[in-house]
Amino acid sequence: MPITAYEWIAGPAPEPELTRFGEIPLFREGLYHLKDGCYAWMVPNGSWGETNIGLIDCGGESVLIDTCWDPNLTRSMLSHMQPVLQHSPVEYLINTHGDGDHCWGNQLLAAKPIYATRACAAGMRHYSPASLRALTHTGRVLKRLPLGSLRLFGHYMSGMFSPYDFSEVTLTEPNQTFSGEQTLTVRGREIVMLEVGPGHTDGDAFVWIPDRSVLYAGDVIFTGVTPVMWAGPVENICRALQRVLEMKPAVIVPGHGPLATQMDIQHLLDYWEFLQDNLHPLSTRGMSSYDAACEVAASKSFRQQPFARWDSPERIVTNARNLYREWGIDEPSLPGTLQTMNLFRQQACLAFSMAEASPTVMRHLSR
Ligand SMILES: [Zn+2]
Repeated sequence: MPITAYEWIAGPAPEPELTRFGEIPLFREGLYHLKDGCYAWMVPNGSWGETNIGLIDCGGESVLIDTCWDPNLTRSMLSHMQPVLQHSPVEYLINTHGDGDHCWGNQLLAAKPIYATRACAAGMRHYSPASLRALTHTGRVLKRLPLGSLRLFGHYMSGMFSPYDFSEVTLTEPNQTFSGEQTLTVRGREIVMLEVGPGHTDGDAFVWIPDRSVLYAGDVIFTGVTPVMWAGPVENICRALQRVLEMKPAVIVPGHGPLATQMDIQHLLDYWEFLQDNLHPLSTRGMSSYDAACEVAASKSFRQQPFARWDSPERIVTNARNLYREWGIDEPSLPGTLQTMNLFRQQACLAFSMAEASPTVMRHLSR
């Protein structure tokens, strides 16, 4: 069922006319009641940092699944959740993985048990708020320069980060870690944490509510938004997606985008298969991952696929590079954050060459 079929409880009012990136919203931002105490905070349309969050009301205590990309947004979300939190305050937090847009509001719940996989906890310091602040600043400077791809990169980065404020973020790591599977029982309600990574990141986990058949999938599942593989292998991502097809959850809350259906899961599997099938022959011809990503993204066969219209199609650049690594092709790499910056610079170049790529604001040179 689409999210509009569920009860909208609370959220920003009046309803914003556009998303944080200036797109027409596919649904209203806010807290939705999915099923007997299972809620989701849904943010349209699922682009950079437009993260979906879970909330389980266990009758007197609640479990929060992930926090927002900065403390302000997390504070605002928690205030909108008051209709639930006033009788069931948040006593537990689970992080599905360590990307900042799922855990950089953790500091507001630092005194509570915070659960995540061991691999997630170990990787959480991979990117620091200070490095993103530097990238935001760099983007603002570069976009004023008449320097081709650097200027595009500047626009792309400042567009990506402009809705967020990382100045107050204090990294707050999980204090309860697990590997494999762990069940948290709160007032008789079972909340099952299933490690499915590495894939999207090193430490991905699903959160599964068996008695209501609700799955909070984190970023292994995006709906209508191009998925990204930071860690790999792709085999693990596909295995996790297959597992969801077998579980047949009644409700699937993705990390980004509208609620997912079984068809959406199949489309994600198709995306990963398409990328492998189309990039691998180019890799054996000696083409770089960037050139191969651009060629595939421009191909007629890609543009006929449903995923050609997903948000941020330029993420194919990062996916191609990491698939190449899996295939044993070592491409020249820059140290640390510089490599990420270079990947984003390449993504920016591709995004600017794709007329229909959304969010369009990241390609808006007049801003
Ligand atoms: Zn993520």
